[in-house]
Amino acid sequence: MNEITVLPPNVSKAEFARAIAEYRKILGNHNVIVDMERLAPYKKIMVPNPEQQHAPAGALIAESVEQVQAVLAVCSKYRIPVWPISTGKNFGYGTAAPAVPGQMVLDLKRMNKILEFDPVLGTVLLEPGVTYQQLQTYIDERNLPFWIAGPGAGSLVGPVGQSLERGIGYTPYGDHFAHSCGMEVVLASGEVLRTGSGGITNTKAWQSHKYGYGPVLDGLFSQSNFGIVTKLGLWLMPAPATYKPFLVAFANHEDIGKAVEITQQLRLKGVIQNTAVIGHALYALAWFARRADIYTEPGSVTDEWLTNFLKPKRLPVWGVNAALYGSEERVAADWKTVIEAFKDSGGMLLTQEQLGGDPAWEHGKGLMAGRLDMVEYGLYNWRGGGGSAWFAPVMQARGFEALKTMRLGKSILAEYGFDFMGGYMVNPRDMTLVIDLLFDRSNPAELQKAHECFGRLIREFGAQGYGVYRTNIAFMEQVADIYGPVKKIVNQRIKRALDPKGIIAPGKSGIRI
Ligand SMILES: Cc1cc2nc3c(=O)[nH]c(=O)nc-3n(C[C@H](O)[C@H](O)[C@H](O)COP(=O)(O)OP(=O)(O)OC[C@H]3O[C@@H](n4cnc5c(N)ncnc54)[C@H](O)[C@@H]3O)c2cc1C
Repeated sequence: MNEITVLPPNVSKAEFARAIAEYRKILGNHNVIVDMERLAPYKKIMVPNPEQQHAPAGALIAESVEQVQAVLAVCSKYRIPVWPISTGKNFGYGTAAPAVPGQMVLDLKRMNKILEFDPVLGTVLLEPGVTYQQLQTYIDERNLPFWIAGPGAGSLVGPVGQSLERGIGYTPYGDHFAHSCGMEVVLASGEVLRTGSGGITNTKAWQSHKYGYGPVLDGLFSQSNFGIVTKLGLWLMPAPATYKPFLVAFANHEDIGKAVEITQQLRLKGVIQNTAVIGHALYALAWFARRADIYTEPGSVTDEWLTNFLKPKRLPVWGVNAALYGSEERVAADWKTVIEAFKDSGGMLLTQEQLGGDPAWEHGKGLMAGRLDMVEYGLYNWRGGGGSAWFAPVMQARGFEALKTMRLGKSILAEYGFDFMGGYMVNPRDMTLVIDLLFDRSNPAELQKAHECFGRLIREFGAQGYGVYRTNIAFMEQVADIYGPVKKIVNQRIKRALDPKGIIAPGKSGIRI
């Protein structure tokens, strides 16, 4: 057996061996992984940092809340840090690996029961390992009139990880954290906290009423290291009577300003209810094409080249992907409003009837109805080499902000020879620009360049007042700095109060004791 060489910080080999023996008593031999070969999936990352900077000391697979509590007791005794994961597919943000090396990954994917479902209230109570596929199958098998709201990452990932990371989906329930309700959290002390009304004996409202009494604590356990979430309530969207997805095609790069302005107003007024995605052509192109097959110039793909490539194929540079939901009458009335809104915009309004069969459209159409597929993984063939890092700055949903951030993003990426691939996820008042920085991880010079480029993006967007809503394990500290020193200190004080030995996920979101 090839034993792991990375030790938890300030823990001797002998102490680590004793801790491993204790973990094995709790979890069973097979569920304590220190073998290099079995540890490989927990170590493999896509983000622009060398693997050793995020190498775990081992992995622990827990199957119950009691096991999580017992594991934390051992961690506390030996001061061994654990990095909890739910389904562990945080691709482009760190996959399953920890922010700083020497932690034990605490894998909760076998805690994967759908514990409760309420058909009247549309609520479920989930364990962390439940995947979107499982939830979809549960719904399909029972023919339940509800939709899920998964991410572009497809069916393998899960609602608990997505909600805790405050990830994005594409139905009207696309704000994942906002549609969660009630958490069970194991604290570093081993105590089990239930948020909202979950602490009331015989409560029935844990998954339907968010706030309970006193401070609302749920936010403290998202993107944080203050506890380990072992159950999460989720709201499901009732299947609408009518679903009308559409695309508005814009032919020019600078049309993004107009596209955002119109989409934002329709979002604000509730005509478009779902997270509208204004996708850039290169992002969708990369699902199906290899860069080397279509682009042979040096440097990043230029606007001019892309325009010339798209024109003969009658493909747009930007596409607004949105949908209408509700009764037939409501959708018909909303459709008239949409036609009117885009009438003089220069954008071409296309419906399912005109687009059916186009593979990129079929993917978008499915996503906005909560249907998941693996189409977006085609991205990884664009450059090859397995490097990916999502850059996701947030801004006001205004046309000029889109123009400014598009130009800034493109100019920084171009300096390093990387392509601008992404889109704007438009809400009623804010929007997120999501760019996938794709690079060849197997090429050390390109890995280094991607690291520098990502750091520059954070710095330069930060200097203009744009913070990212989430980041990968290599840049958590740098992003925390953008949000100011007081937020950092307050986070640290909370950390010290709840986890004085710093055993849960040190470094997550830049928070340490
Ligand atoms: C092609 C592609 C498309 C993508 N599209 C989207 C998209 O549309 N929207 C989007 O938001 N993301 C997207 N992603 C990013 C990412 O892959 C997903 O967000 C994915 O769902 C996260 O992985 P997971 O659900 O397995 O979470 P996990 O990996 O299980 O968890 C993520 C992190 O949350 C914390 N955490 C997890 N569980 C717990 C717990 N029980 N207690 C405490 N902390 C915990 C940990 O820090 C962990 O590292 C995409 C990725 C790819 C490759």
